[in-house]
Amino acid sequence: MLGSIIGDIVGSSYEVLEVNDKRIKGKRDYEDRIKILNSNITLFNDDSSYTDDSVLTTAVADTLLNNKNYEYYLRKYGNKELKLGLDKYGRSRFGKGFINWLKSDVQGISYGNGSAMRIAPVAYYFDNLDDIYKNAIEATIPSHNNNEAINGALAVCDTIYLAKNKYSKEEIKNYIEEKYNYNLNFDLEDLQKNYTFSSKCIDTVPQAIYIFLISNDFEDAIRKSISIGGDADTIACIVGGISETYYGIPDNIKKDVQKYIPEYMKSIISNFYQELELKNNNKIFKKEL
Ligand SMILES: [Mg+2]
Repeated sequence: MLGSIIGDIVGSSYEVLEVNDKRIKGKRDYEDRIKILNSNITLFNDDSSYTDDSVLTTAVADTLLNNKNYEYYLRKYGNKELKLGLDKYGRSRFGKGFINWLKSDVQGISYGNGSAMRIAPVAYYFDNLDDIYKNAIEATIPSHNNNEAINGALAVCDTIYLAKNKYSKEEIKNYIEEKYNYNLNFDLEDLQKNYTFSSKCIDTVPQAIYIFLISNDFEDAIRKSISIGGDADTIACIVGGISETYYGIPDNIKKDVQKYIPEYMKSIISNFYQELELKNNNKIFKKEL
């Protein structure tokens, strides 16, 4: 899950440039987008900050740690962040739809990528697909009770599950294409030139899985995510969550991200990894018995 949070924080300073927010700097073009592929450009900068993707990923992890209700924690974390106010750009960390959901007490029917961005901890936490699917749906439907959004979350979980279990990228590609009817035959340069901002699940999850499939390592995956533009923090968050399982995260990136993560989030992240380790040790212990 730290990979998801790293992706979100790295992507955060680019998303604001992609939404063509006139208060900021205007839209990035192809040349601007591919600058991030140059390894001299640092992943983090003065404008990097955590956004809703990190907040809600942490909410899902906290739900798993406490064996509680997903909706309770999504609302709790959402409301907590809303109270903290606007980010440095004067914007809320959450989209309008999510804020409206927070203010109401009804189930949301969003088809947005919010379902997929927060789901990685579920696929990390459970070893069998039945538990993963059950929990992914439970974590999604309070705010995203929509087939596209549910499929987006499940596709990310399946990709993480397959990566965790050492399936090859070709096997992952074939499985996801067939099961979700996603076309993963994009062209990187075409996306860098022509992809436009969308926060729909169906317009971001296939692109994110494609970026993972063509990446060489964790850092390369994050840089390529940012290079296609669009909803940069969310795409990098999804890619980061998948890539962590497949490649691991380099120590220097783990270290560099620390100053951007709020303390409350750090303690949940640390508890989550401790719990995963405990679960793994128990598994090894049981096998030996
Ligand atoms: Mg975000």
